Amino acid sequence: MEAMTHVIPDFEAPPRVLLAAPRGYCAGVDRAVEIVEVALRTYGPPVYVRRQIVHNLHVVRRLEREGAVFVGELDEVPKGATVVFSAHGVAPEVHAQARARDLKVIDATCPLVTKVHQEARKFAAKGYDIVLVGHEGHEEVVGTMGQAPRAVHLVGDADQAARVEVPDPERVAYLTQTTLSVDETAGVVDTLRQRFPVLAGPRSDDICYATQNRQTAVKALAAECELILVIGAENSSNSKRLVEVARDQGCASHLISEAAAVDPAWFDGVGTVGITSGASAPEWLGRARGRPLRPARRPAPRRRGRTLGVLVATPTGPARLAPGSHGPHAAATPAVAWRRRGRPSLGATRPDRTLPAVGAAG
Ligand code: SF4
Repeated sequence: MEAMTHVIPDFEAPPRVLLAAPRGYCAGVDRAVEIVEVALRTYGPPVYVRRQIVHNLHVVRRLEREGAVFVGELDEVPKGATVVFSAHGVAPEVHAQARARDLKVIDATCPLVTKVHQEARKFAAKGYDIVLVGHEGHEEVVGTMGQAPRAVHLVGDADQAARVEVPDPERVAYLTQTTLSVDETAGVVDTLRQRFPVLAGPRSDDICYATQNRQTAVKALAAECELILVIGAENSSNSKRLVEVARDQGCASHLISEAAAVDPAWFDGVGTVGITSGASAPEWLGRARGRPLRPARRPAPRRRGRTLGVLVATPTGPARLAPGSHGPHAAATPAVAWRRRGRPSLGATRPDRTLPAVGAAG
């Protein structure tokens, strides 16, 4: 994996750096990126990809260098070519467009998004109106609405939930985008329940395990930190939610898409900084060459830093992930186990769900 090098001006490195776990790539994103890589190896470039495979420009640029061609819509793809659909999922009409253009489709939709699609179709088939909690215009939301366009009503917050109109209040179901804030969504669903007492819903939460686990880890981290940096892209829903979760806990927090975006002033007076990354941010994005921003075993004298270096750090040296802390088989990993041996760990959460293995099926 390549490393990103972004030198930032001199700054006072904080004495303690704590890492959230889990953080970074979720199973669905990891799988989607691997699908593009396998397609490139199997069919050779160019392999077309509809929209950003994940909401991370660094990942997109790397795949472009390997021969992936990212397009907005399918009419930009030559007839008969191979096209990958992103992890966010697509509406059935996109599949129909692909068939009309005789495209070879590889669908990298995350299975946890597919689950929401199936729920939407099931409720619509039973005659329910569906209130979808999500962010207007987000690709996943567009894909889910497309499963049952006549039945779905989108609401973004509790105010909209309080106003949404449905023809039959006795036949209403709710679904949610997978990457929302767990706490905020619970409030929206409560509002819906008050309005529609027989509200139906999914058998288990639509907010995916990866999102929930990363938010739980950030809450634990916030109790120990004055500042939490979230590595992720501006258009990454789950990364932005991590910033909001940290701030809701009373901790300063910033979203950074690369080390160059770090403002050294953020560290003024900060003794402990927490680091996490959104589900669409690969681990290598959290690294930069140069002297690592290394956490101390015990409060250490403040020192000068030149580079916001290795954000992932171990007591002894450069970045090394704790086993199982990310990737498709991510397990709950103590966020700061190395410095609190034998004590309950921060950020220990339910394991991320494992998703099916990647194949190069057409
Ligand atoms: S954030 Fe959740 S739903 Fe989205 S790709 Fe990752 S695992 Fe799947």
